Amino acid sequence: MLRPLVKYGAAGLHTPAAPVTTFDDELARLVDEMVAAMYAAPGIGLAAPQDGVPLRVSVIDLSVGKKGGELLTLVNPEITELDGLQLEEEGCLSIPGFTATVPRPDRTVVRAVDRNGRPQTIEGTGLLARALQHEVDHLDGRLFLDRLRGIKRDMIVRKIRKLDRAGKW
Ligand SMILES: [Zn+2]
Repeated sequence: MLRPLVKYGAAGLHTPAAPVTTFDDELARLVDEMVAAMYAAPGIGLAAPQDGVPLRVSVIDLSVGKKGGELLTLVNPEITELDGLQLEEEGCLSIPGFTATVPRPDRTVVRAVDRNGRPQTIEGTGLLARALQHEVDHLDGRLFLDRLRGIKRDMIVRKIRKLDRAGKW
């Protein structure tokens, strides 16, 4: 059974997550569950806080499971390089129904370990760079809305509050 994903406004989404220190069966189960939840949503990335777990674990699959070998499991990821600029529409499984154009660097290098604790370096441009940054943001307690300024952000937050008051969030 998949848990419902945590949505904007829940404290766990707005708080930095703790590093993983134990690479055991429990972590393996969490990763499997996150991958299943990401594919079911469907989405191209999911962070553990969205699944209700305050740990620095993210999964990304730009093919949403349609191609083998595209799944990335990032444990304790850190951004080591950012270059350039891209302006694209971005959404989030924790902010369903809303998207916005978010400026982000076009190239990213991330250092992380995999589910077994083995070091990995991932370099991405375009959509992959955006997904990597979006997921590391989640682990730092930041959502794409926090990268917006002014009217656009206020408008979305107001609509979410209205939905929440109506019991539809
Ligand atoms: Zn997200």
